[in-house]
Amino acid sequence: MAAKTRVVIVGGGVLGTMHAVEARGRGFEVVQLERETEPRGASVRNFGLVWVSGRRAGPELSLALRARELWSELGAKVPGLGFRAAGSLTLAASDAELSLLKEAAARPDAERRGFELLDPAAVRAVNPALRGEFAGGLHGRLDAIVEPRQVLPALRGYLAAGCQGQGGYEWLPGREVTEIAPNAVRDHTGAWHQCDLVILCPGAAHTGIAGRYLARGGGVRRVRLQMMQTVPLEARVTTALADGDSLRYYPAFDLPGRAALPPQPPAAARARAQLLLVQRADGGLTIGDTHEYAEPFAFDLDEDAYDHLRARAEALLGGPLPRVQRRWAGVYSELEPAAAGRALYHRAEVEPGVVLVTGPGGRGMTCSPAIAEETFR
Ligand SMILES: Cc1cc2nc3c(=O)[nH]c(=O)nc-3n(C[C@H](O)[C@H](O)[C@H](O)COP(=O)(O)OP(=O)(O)OC[C@H]3O[C@@H](n4cnc5c(N)ncnc54)[C@H](O)[C@@H]3O)c2cc1C
Repeated sequence: MAAKTRVVIVGGGVLGTMHAVEARGRGFEVVQLERETEPRGASVRNFGLVWVSGRRAGPELSLALRARELWSELGAKVPGLGFRAAGSLTLAASDAELSLLKEAAARPDAERRGFELLDPAAVRAVNPALRGEFAGGLHGRLDAIVEPRQVLPALRGYLAAGCQGQGGYEWLPGREVTEIAPNAVRDHTGAWHQCDLVILCPGAAHTGIAGRYLARGGGVRRVRLQMMQTVPLEARVTTALADGDSLRYYPAFDLPGRAALPPQPPAAARARAQLLLVQRADGGLTIGDTHEYAEPFAFDLDEDAYDHLRARAEALLGGPLPRVQRRWAGVYSELEPAAAGRALYHRAEVEPGVVLVTGPGGRGMTCSPAIAEETFR
């Protein structure tokens, strides 16, 4: 592709925006279209966790580690991302969870993941906000945090400033792409956008412009999660936090000790809940999550799952949570289990010069810069 190559990116989420960053880095002109006036999808509803520690050994861990490097580089250039190398603590509440953490800390790739097993006193030294009860914790030194409500506008500001008024990056919100033709896309206003390459990053919109391609057997499904956020907590929560239920979901913990974990409490099992907790830059706590796989998804929020998550967070922090100010649900696109063994996300050249990228699942925020790099490579 020559330097004047013009790339149209459809979708203003983190995948589309990281593709814009990568394309501009290669000197290409970029036009990015987003159907909402400001993105409202998974990329602004997530924890902002750049989560390396729990990845499956092999290509998944390598992709996450590369993405972690890229986030760190971008964080140095774009302060608005709120990137901080805070690390994480996964806390064990029982002997079975502690045994599994020990196994994880003894993995041959533990060093690569930044794992270190800590006793309760050492956990509190790393994160003094943890005044509750736990048997020990696994420090994930490489895990990091960004501010999901700021990331997209901050990256767009960086792209616009990098072009120094000479063009090169055009952001077109409120434009839904409805048609693709050779070397062009059309938005819902009827305007055509000419280009050499189209990159479709529609997120969990599996029926819109990408629908006919995904219907051919894209191998993706959608997952719905519940989240909440408190008003600011005065204490500083120095790391991201996960409870022992996260050991059931992250592939790094698919070790013999997982079979010894007792069943989850019924409300948690129904919601497929795990506690993840991140303190926002303003002190608020983002808390989740749950996993709903069968559509149609609930259109309302289930309070039982929130009660469970609140109790878990309070048990670790050793005191009441601040008032919950916001609750929401979010939906992401991920590979169907059958396809997940063969790839980490869905990328296909669906027409000549049209590349569809979606389905990174619950690691999409983490891996987005490395996924964009792979697309252009
Ligand atoms: C609650 C929740 C928590 C999560 N937590 C984390 C986390 O902490 N760490 C992590 O790594 N991952 C996390 N994830 C996953 C991650 O957020 C997603 O994988 C990622 O944001 C997907 O990015 P995307 O750009 O593909 O999708 P989206 O953010 O959904 O963006 C797609 C965009 O495309 C637009 N669009 C669609 N069709 C068109 C069209 N025809 N024309 C124009 N625009 C269009 C949509 O409006 C949307 O803005 C979480 C997800 C959820 C839901």
